[in-house]
Amino acid sequence: MSKKSEETKSKILTHSPKKSNEGITAKKEENFSEWFTQVVQKCELADLRCNTKGFLVFQPWSVLAMEKMYDYLEKILQKKGHKPYWFPTLIPESNLKKESAHLGGFTPEVFWVTQGGNKKFEEKLALRPTSETVIYPMFSIWIRSYNDLPFKTYQRAQIFRYETKATRPFLRSREFYWIERHSAHATEQEAFNQVKEDMRTTEEFLGELLGIPFIFFERPEWDKFAGASRTFAADALNPDGKVMQQPSTHMISQDFSKAFDVKFKDKNGKEKLAWITCYGPAISRIFASLIITHGDDKGLKFPWEVAPLQVIIIPIDEKVKEKAEKLKKEIEKLASVDIDSSDKRPGEKFNYWEMKGVPIRIDLGLRDLQKKKVTIFRRDLDKKMIVPEKEVIKEIEKISKEFTKNLIKKANQIFEGRIKETKNVNEIKQAIEEGLIARCHWCSVEKNGEKCAEVVEKKIGAEVKGTRLGEKIKPSGKCAICGKPAKNIVYIAKSY
Ligand SMILES: [Zn+2]
Repeated sequence: MSKKSEETKSKILTHSPKKSNEGITAKKEENFSEWFTQVVQKCELADLRCNTKGFLVFQPWSVLAMEKMYDYLEKILQKKGHKPYWFPTLIPESNLKKESAHLGGFTPEVFWVTQGGNKKFEEKLALRPTSETVIYPMFSIWIRSYNDLPFKTYQRAQIFRYETKATRPFLRSREFYWIERHSAHATEQEAFNQVKEDMRTTEEFLGELLGIPFIFFERPEWDKFAGASRTFAADALNPDGKVMQQPSTHMISQDFSKAFDVKFKDKNGKEKLAWITCYGPAISRIFASLIITHGDDKGLKFPWEVAPLQVIIIPIDEKVKEKAEKLKKEIEKLASVDIDSSDKRPGEKFNYWEMKGVPIRIDLGLRDLQKKKVTIFRRDLDKKMIVPEKEVIKEIEKISKEFTKNLIKKANQIFEGRIKETKNVNEIKQAIEEGLIARCHWCSVEKNGEKCAEVVEKKIGAEVKGTRLGEKIKPSGKCAICGKPAKNIVYIAKSY
C-alpha cells in the first residue's frame, strides 16, 4: 500500500460513523423502515457511503454470516447432484438477443461494457443481469445425448442490475450476491421434478436452517419471469406489511432450448429439445429477511448456524483475563468465540453484543468465579442464568441445539397471524392497510384475470402474488373484484 493510500485510509477511519453508545432507538413494529436503517448502520452490516452510485460496501458482520449461508446452500445443492461452475461476468449482446421475452424483460436493467482501454468493442457486452444467456450456449456444446441428462449446474455469483428505484441495503442494490442453479432435462416431468426439488431446497434452507417463514406461490400468468412458462416464488412478509420475494424457481421449458439449440439424441437416436429449469436464491436478500424476521428492538438475532460470532466473553474484572483466555480455548472446540477486552464499561459491552445478535454472552466476574460460577446470557430467550463453571461447555452445547428452534417458533407465531380472509375491494384494502396479506377468491390467474389485478394495483396499490402451493381449500365463491365465478384463491400484498 502506498503512503498516499495509507493517508486516505486513516482519513476514512476518522470519518467513520460516530461510534455512539446508543443502541437501536426505533421500534421495529412501529417504524420498521427506520429500524432497518439503524440496524444496518449501527450493527455495521453495510456502509452506503461508497461513491459508486447505487452500490454499497458489505461489512464483516454481514459478510461472515452470508459466507456461512453460501456454504450451507452450496452443500445442499451439491448433495442433490448440482455441480459448481463459474461462468463469465460479461455476456455478448447477441446472446441476450437470442431469446426475445428474456431480452425484453431485462434490457432496461442492463449495464453495458462498450470498450476495453481505448478500444471500442464491435459488440457491446452486458454485465450479467442473470446468466441464462451465457450458460445455455455452453449446454448446447456439452449436451449430446440422453446420457448427458439431467445436466445440473450452479454458480455463486454477483449480479448487476441497473435499478432506478431508490436502493436499500440488502433489499435492492445494483449489485447483489446470489446462487443461480440451471439444469437441462429429457422430459417435462423431470424438469418439473427439479422445480419441486428447488421448493424443497428453499424449505430446508430458508425454513429449517434460517427460520424465515414464507409462502410459496405460483405466479400468475402476467407476472412470470421473462421467458419462463411457470414461475414459483417464495414470499416472506415484513412488519411493514410488504412481502419480499425470496428464491424463485422457473420452468423455462423449451423456449430457451430452441433459442440456444440445447438438443439431445434420445435412446432411439432421435434429436429432441431439452427442458430447462433455473432457480435463483439471492443470498444478500435472504440475509435481509433473516435480520428482519428475527431482529427485535434491541437489534439483531442470528440463528446459531450462521451467526458471524457465536459466543462472546466479557471479562468484568482485570483479574479474570487469564481465566477468559482459558475459557476461550475450550469453547473454540465447539463454537466461534471472542473476548471483548475493550475499555468500555460492562453495561455498554452487554448492550453492544446484544445489538450485534451474538447468540451467547458469558460474563466473567471475580465474585462469580470465586464461587466457581459464571453468568450466561442467551439472546434467543433474552435470559440470564448462573452456571457452575465446569458445566459451561455442556451448557453451550445445549443452547446451540435449541437456539434456532426457539427463533423459528417465535417467527412462525408472528407470521401465522398475518393472513386475512377478504371478500371484496374494501376488505382487501383494509387488510393491506393493516399490514396484512389478503387472501381472496379470484376469477383466474391466467391472462384474462389480469384486468382484475390491475384494479387491485390501481385502487389498493397492492399486487396479486399468486396461488399458494399446498392450498387446501378449493375455490367455490366469486372473484372479489369482478364477481365472476372464481377459479382460484389468491393472495394479495404490497411488495418492494
Ligand atoms: Zn375477477
